[in-house]
Amino acid sequence: MGRSVLVTGGNRGIGLAIARELAEAGHKVAVTHRGSGAPEGLFGVQADVTDTEQVDAAFKQVEEHQGPVEVLVSNAGITDDTLLMRMSEEQFTRVVDANLTGAYRVAKRASRGMLRAKWGRFVFISSVVGLSGQAGQVNYAASKAGLVGIARSLTRELGSRNITANVIAPGFIKTDMTDSLSDSQREAMVAQIPAGRYAEPAEVAAAVRFLASDEASYVNGAVLPVDGGLGMGH
Ligand code: NDP
Repeated sequence: MGRSVLVTGGNRGIGLAIARELAEAGHKVAVTHRGSGAPEGLFGVQADVTDTEQVDAAFKQVEEHQGPVEVLVSNAGITDDTLLMRMSEEQFTRVVDANLTGAYRVAKRASRGMLRAKWGRFVFISSVVGLSGQAGQVNYAASKAGLVGIARSLTRELGSRNITANVIAPGFIKTDMTDSLSDSQREAMVAQIPAGRYAEPAEVAAAVRFLASDEASYVNGAVLPVDGGLGMGH
């Protein structure tokens, strides 16, 4: 059955792979972008997840186009890495605002429609470093760990209404975000990954496709690693 899906940051990278996978599965898929326009074949709405009014306006457009959001994939995210000693408060709050408060904003807006429909799927794209930590990523890791708290609290609040809230914790995926790493950083990371390689965005998308499905109805409050074994299940 085709659901109304919204993927934040679905204009490129992992978000775009998720959007394409869900569209292929027969869902009606909308993506947010911040001015780049909609990718071919997908419905695009312009929204920055740090702005509540833009989020609300985007949801209204999606509702008009394909009905209330039934599957929300909160994927938009940024990094701004540096060691804590050098991290400004602005660097910390900017990353948390986009990655964590942004997820709160879209989840809150989506919850209305899901409650009315008595069905819903929240999928939050976290990261292996939200669970393991990473030097230079106090802001990013905190924001990604926070998504687990959001999902598990939502599971308790809404779990009796056929609404699930799960987290995917990707490891290292080939996108613009990881392109900025140096060759030596990349080699050092790959040496720690049992799979011995980075993942393709489509490998994350396949996990989202499952969590968004009717078949995943009893999977709730889970953190699903897609990391080639890097976190060993954590
Ligand atoms: P990219 O940098 O390739 O893409 C980031 C996406 O997020 C873009 O679509 C970007 O939009 C959007 N975005 C960023 N900030 C905002 C905002 N304030 N409002 C709306 N959209 C925003 O990253 P990836 O595809 O690699 O990452 C996607 C998600 O997966 C992120 O949450 C990331 O933390 C997570 N992740 C990535 C991993 C990796 O190895 N790549 C590993 C683990 C997790 P725009 O095009 O306008 O900039």
